[in-house]
Amino acid sequence: MIICVINEPKFEYDIHSLFKAFYPAEEVKVTAKCEETSGNASVFSVLYEKAYFSLSDGNGKELLRLSTDGVKDRIGEKNLVKRLVYLAISRLTGKTLEWGDLTGIRPTKIASKLLNEGKSDEEILSYMKDTYLVGDKKAGLSLDIAKREREILRPLRLKQGGYSLYIGIPFCPTTCLYCSFTSNPIGAWRSRIDDFLNALEKEIRFVAEARKNGILDSIYIGGGTPTSLEAPEIDRLLTVIEENFDLSGVLEYTVEAGRPDSITVDKLKVLKKHGVTRISVNPQTMNADTLKLIGRHHTPGDFVRAFSLARESGFDNINTDIILGLPGESEREVQNTVDELVRLRPDSLTVHSLAVKRASALSEWILKNGYDTMVNTDKTMEIAAAGALALNMKPYYLYRQKNMAGNFENTGYAREGAYGIYNILIMEELESIAALGPGSVSKVLTREGKLVRDDNVKDVSLYIERIDEMIERKRELFALE
Ligand code: SF4
Repeated sequence: MIICVINEPKFEYDIHSLFKAFYPAEEVKVTAKCEETSGNASVFSVLYEKAYFSLSDGNGKELLRLSTDGVKDRIGEKNLVKRLVYLAISRLTGKTLEWGDLTGIRPTKIASKLLNEGKSDEEILSYMKDTYLVGDKKAGLSLDIAKREREILRPLRLKQGGYSLYIGIPFCPTTCLYCSFTSNPIGAWRSRIDDFLNALEKEIRFVAEARKNGILDSIYIGGGTPTSLEAPEIDRLLTVIEENFDLSGVLEYTVEAGRPDSITVDKLKVLKKHGVTRISVNPQTMNADTLKLIGRHHTPGDFVRAFSLARESGFDNINTDIILGLPGESEREVQNTVDELVRLRPDSLTVHSLAVKRASALSEWILKNGYDTMVNTDKTMEIAAAGALALNMKPYYLYRQKNMAGNFENTGYAREGAYGIYNILIMEELESIAALGPGSVSKVLTREGKLVRDDNVKDVSLYIERIDEMIERKRELFALE
């Protein structure tokens, strides 16, 4: 365990993220209180003084001190403490991090902002490297993606009341080991699906009425796994959407059909009938043993069958998600997964680096089995990137999460014309998103240009019971626009 004691309670999140990036297998605690520590803990301390910030080890030996000269505001202070922790721990461990001391989840936003300010490529790359100590490769990737995003978003009516709709369906066939989403095994909820759909319909009708003067740019039905619902239930949901929203200007209509074990011909027909343009069918890995270990009750063969069914049903924009850093997987397994996908030729490929979330069963699993078998390296990232290139895909969106295997990132690759617009919008926070269903998060851009969010309750029973309260909260949220 690593304990970092700070003399003032600020920037805990950033300090925690950096320690975690250097010591992924360790539990990290950042605290303003000096507590009793167990014999096994490595203790550090950060001192915020007026003239300098410093970081010391458990023996009180100062590892690094940085002057506060030129620091004008809280952002400057935050950047200074991140630099302090990064440089001190980098020297101590001999490790460097490709993303430098960046702790935010949206690094491409930095490049986008500078592009909008008219900065040149050189200026942007230097800024990322000098300010955040980002390596050449990641700085270049951020700039490349920021430029592509601008091109992709050009047709959107961001300034004319354009918005997106997200609907979360909180059910899956089973729960994956690493899951931290709002997901419940559908089998246990069968008897309450009608109640759930009744509540969701009420929310849909309210949102459609409240936003009747807006322009609906994109729809994303995720979760969970929406195709866990039966075909007539999906039909009912998509019919309500169709009847209440003007879909004539929708640029993209995505439904996650993520779990191959939830896909049938009937469900695909229903999606097609209602004009769904993009679906996601996810193997995560093409290695049978790993699939068993991570609690996905399907085989690689099931994925191939589901993917082929989707193609035969006429879907010409299919995304596939994979995860790098899964327990027991090394370069050989990742290469196998990528080779299989190259053979199937999906239209986009989203490459995730496994993120260990506190709420997931994976956290428990690591306590029992250790962290050693979860490896994500530059090489595995390169294997995935090479696969995307072989499919004529380019990276078009990117985000990071806390506790990611190898401290890397999640990258969306797509062939020309198959970019997921909603994915960019949610990352770049460029337009309002009305989000419905348990655990969903609505975000609106206020008249003052601020982003304000409102979370629906996660628990399905509470969502059903308190649907009127969810609606009232949305009414207040939308009034800020
Ligand atoms: S398919 Fe996704 S949402 Fe469902 S259990 Fe697995 S990780 Fe969670």
